[in-house]
Amino acid sequence: MLTGAVEPAGRFGDFGGRYVSETLIPAVEELDVAYRAALADPAFRGQLDGLLKDYVGRPTPLYFAARLSAHVGRDVWLKREDLCHTGAHKVNNTVGQVLLALRMGKRRIIAETGAGQHGVATATACALLGAQCEVYMGAEDVRRQAPNVSRMQLLGAKVHPVESGSRTLKDAMNEALRDWVTNVEHTYYCVGSAAGPHPYPTLVRELQAIIGREARAQLLEATGALPAAVIACVGGGSNAIGMFHAFREDPSVALIGVEAGGLGLASGKHAATLSMGKVGVLHGAKTYVLQDEGGQITEAHSMSAGLDYPGVGPEHAFLKASGRARYEVATDAEALEGFKLLCALEGIIPALETSHCFALLPRIAETLEGSGPLAVCLSGRGDKDLDTALEYLGAASGKLHA
Ligand SMILES: *Cc1c(COP(=O)(O)O)cnc(C)c1O
Repeated sequence: MLTGAVEPAGRFGDFGGRYVSETLIPAVEELDVAYRAALADPAFRGQLDGLLKDYVGRPTPLYFAARLSAHVGRDVWLKREDLCHTGAHKVNNTVGQVLLALRMGKRRIIAETGAGQHGVATATACALLGAQCEVYMGAEDVRRQAPNVSRMQLLGAKVHPVESGSRTLKDAMNEALRDWVTNVEHTYYCVGSAAGPHPYPTLVRELQAIIGREARAQLLEATGALPAAVIACVGGGSNAIGMFHAFREDPSVALIGVEAGGLGLASGKHAATLSMGKVGVLHGAKTYVLQDEGGQITEAHSMSAGLDYPGVGPEHAFLKASGRARYEVATDAEALEGFKLLCALEGIIPALETSHCFALLPRIAETLEGSGPLAVCLSGRGDKDLDTALEYLGAASGKLHA
């Protein structure tokens, strides 16, 4: 069980499970049966593979980053999920789940979103496949992420601002679950990361595992060998588990996740759930959670909206506990450094989420034996983050164009 295979009860070791209200149990059980049947059905697979190829643009390239490699002192390969349609890996998941929803006879799709990226990816898949889309989003996030609200609306989605609590992601999550309980007959809940009650962490992993499957084959073809490590940033954990999964039974390959350290772990303003959280229940699963002494969920902080989540997918909790994967932390400042590095050395503007990986690479390389290459999941492109990055860089340098 060291490799993260899910047990029948939907547990990864001590983590995971389904901590949801009685009324939702039939829905998650129905989903569990339906997704297994779908993924085992050649007709469904064929339809999904066709969309991944022609619509999403898979397989994405595995690119040898020569100048970054010289900087790091070890070969670095980038798995280019930034080249997926919509500019990140999230669409791999939403196209699969919306296709599954329609197969289950559910045409109303709900989702929750923090920064809006998962909302946009869900709205995209719904427009593609002709499903109705409603997205819950904290009112504070609606204000902060206006361009993504416009994108969702253009794509035909209805956005519900959530006014309760801190008016951010965790409140939107609660509202989406409430909607699902009420409308479960004809509504499908499209979860945005490898988190949530069983079977979502496994379902989302299966839909994202194509990242690592492609990368492993591409790397073997290009170099004839496996990498020393695969590396990915961790918010809820979907791009990381998607990258890790194909390598889980290669003991020579280190699996390394990078969490958002925000203003530093000592400041308390971070999103380093695996490094600093305590075991608890969030979003229907037992996992590591950022919480205060009284067990109240605390706000996560990161300059990158996509890592700003107070929980983490339960399989990562298990991979950490079992020692199969390890998790590092990069601060906002280190993420900015990584952002600039990739721009200057490779001509690639990376998402701020992904940027957390790059500044740590020289340090990570030193901890690994041998001289094998590093494979990094470049989870998304950074066009969406230009304003944020320039604001921080301006603040850091005293002026914008130093
Ligand atoms: C949303 C997002 C993430 C974080 O989500 P995971 O589920 O942890 O992968 C990382 N990178 C990008 C580009 C994102 O949009």
